Amino acid sequence: MDEYDVIVAGAGVSGATAAAMAGKLGKNVLLIDRNSAQEPGRKTVWGWVCGDAVAKSHITFVEKNLGETFSNQALGLKVDGVVALSPDLSYKLPFDGEGYSLERPLFGKALFDMAMKNGVEFKGKFSVEGPIIEDNKVKGVFGKNEEGKEERIRGKVTIDALGIASLLRRKLPENPYIDKEIDYEDLELTGRFIYKTEDGFDDTRYYDKKNALIHLNQQMAPGGYGWVFPKKDGRVNVGLGVQHRSLEIRNKKFSESDNLKSLIEKYVKWNPLFKQYQLDNSSRNGEGYWSVSVRRQMEGMVYPGYIGVGDSMASANPLSAGGIGPALIGGILAGKAASVAVESSDTSLEGLWNFNVDYVKQYGKSMAGLEVFRIFLQSMNNQDIDYGMRSFITYEEAVEITYGRIPELSLTSKVAKLVRGVGALRTFKDLVWTTQKMKELNSIYADYPKSPKDFPQFKQKVVSIINEAKARMPSSPV
Ligand SMILES: Cc1cc2nc3c(=O)[nH]c(=O)nc-3n(C[C@H](O)[C@H](O)[C@H](O)COP(=O)(O)OP(=O)(O)OC[C@H]3O[C@@H](n4cnc5c(N)ncnc54)[C@H](O)[C@@H]3O)c2cc1C
Repeated sequence: MDEYDVIVAGAGVSGATAAAMAGKLGKNVLLIDRNSAQEPGRKTVWGWVCGDAVAKSHITFVEKNLGETFSNQALGLKVDGVVALSPDLSYKLPFDGEGYSLERPLFGKALFDMAMKNGVEFKGKFSVEGPIIEDNKVKGVFGKNEEGKEERIRGKVTIDALGIASLLRRKLPENPYIDKEIDYEDLELTGRFIYKTEDGFDDTRYYDKKNALIHLNQQMAPGGYGWVFPKKDGRVNVGLGVQHRSLEIRNKKFSESDNLKSLIEKYVKWNPLFKQYQLDNSSRNGEGYWSVSVRRQMEGMVYPGYIGVGDSMASANPLSAGGIGPALIGGILAGKAASVAVESSDTSLEGLWNFNVDYVKQYGKSMAGLEVFRIFLQSMNNQDIDYGMRSFITYEEAVEITYGRIPELSLTSKVAKLVRGVGALRTFKDLVWTTQKMKELNSIYADYPKSPKDFPQFKQKVVSIINEAKARMPSSPV
């Protein structure tokens, strides 16, 4: 006997949203987390580790689908957008449009309350240890309950929203759809702190009350970036992400032994905003470290009886590492797909396949292209990034690229004649190659397989372009 229509494992952003949606559609839903109901969405002992920035359009998508609105307290500070600065701080590139700098604990609670309002049952302090597999189908989850006793819970569809280190994903049977492990090179090791700073600082290259700032700098944040995101009440979310391989190369070249912690300390020292600052550790959420994936989302995100969503499927944007938006969108679509499958009594691979199609259409279609652009960025040193941002593309073209839309490079013919120096020429050629591959990937994703039978050819095409990009443009931060 199946006990539940839908089991949602993980009550973070993606899981609470999926549960709220399936509950709204009248399904009998169980939401499980190792946290108690008092701390929904807390990722680790370090708190709700995140930069907290999300685009307004993603919030609106959830509000429309759930017929609910978020309070201003949960949404936090409204911002005009995200702005990336070149290493020499002379060039600013906006992306993502209007958004919010969330109060993550309150936002997590708001999503959780929406799920409860829709009749979802919650089981807290339960540690999920793996999927129940019978006849090559996921039939629920097993794990340890509050008393430390093993429990098995059965459901028609299991939604995996356990985040990046998901034990459900990693314990699925071998299959061609979902990679069980995320390649170390595709992970950003990140840390972030919430500080209260002094009022009156007005150099918008280092801090901007109206924008979430990203500092691209391959020496300060090899293979990643640093960020300073404004929050309500004069607080700031400051953090840094690095790619392990890039950090190793940079340390070796400069005979340094920096790690993530020391890099964050140096980044804070570098930024004149932080002359005077104090840790804001309310809700025990002031400091912490965690990882975020910057690859395309898993090529397929369903398995018989199983849908993966959010960080468990590596769905964060490969360029910005923004994962809240895709977790929200994925949560809504997963809740709907699971409900449809239960109603039609078809929870097979085919019965759940539409989740892939809908997700790719709604959000995921340009992520593989953006991954190639990320690989390109990681292959450049600071000078190449400064020069390339100013000289190779127009401002409008750069903005288009951040959205994953590929412009015809208007300066191509002019630049090709003018570029001087081996490094700049290589960068320029790589940029042209990169935009071509982004275009190819976008068209491959525009034709996402409508059923599992066409999946192998699709995956093979995607993986071969990504591998080609990695071979052509290895990490080379300094
Ligand atoms: C430092 C940092 C900065 C970031 N900045 C941003 C940003 O500014 N904007 C943005 O959009 N994204 C950002 N991200 C990414 C974003 O935080 C994630 O993409 C998002 O939280 C994904 O939500 P999720 O629900 O899929 O997973 P999670 O938030 O990780 O939720 C997983 C849930 O599963 C539970 N869980 C896990 N394992 C088990 C288990 N075995 N048993 C029971 N429960 C379990 C956890 O308790 C948690 O509640 C950042 C990430 C990091 C690390």
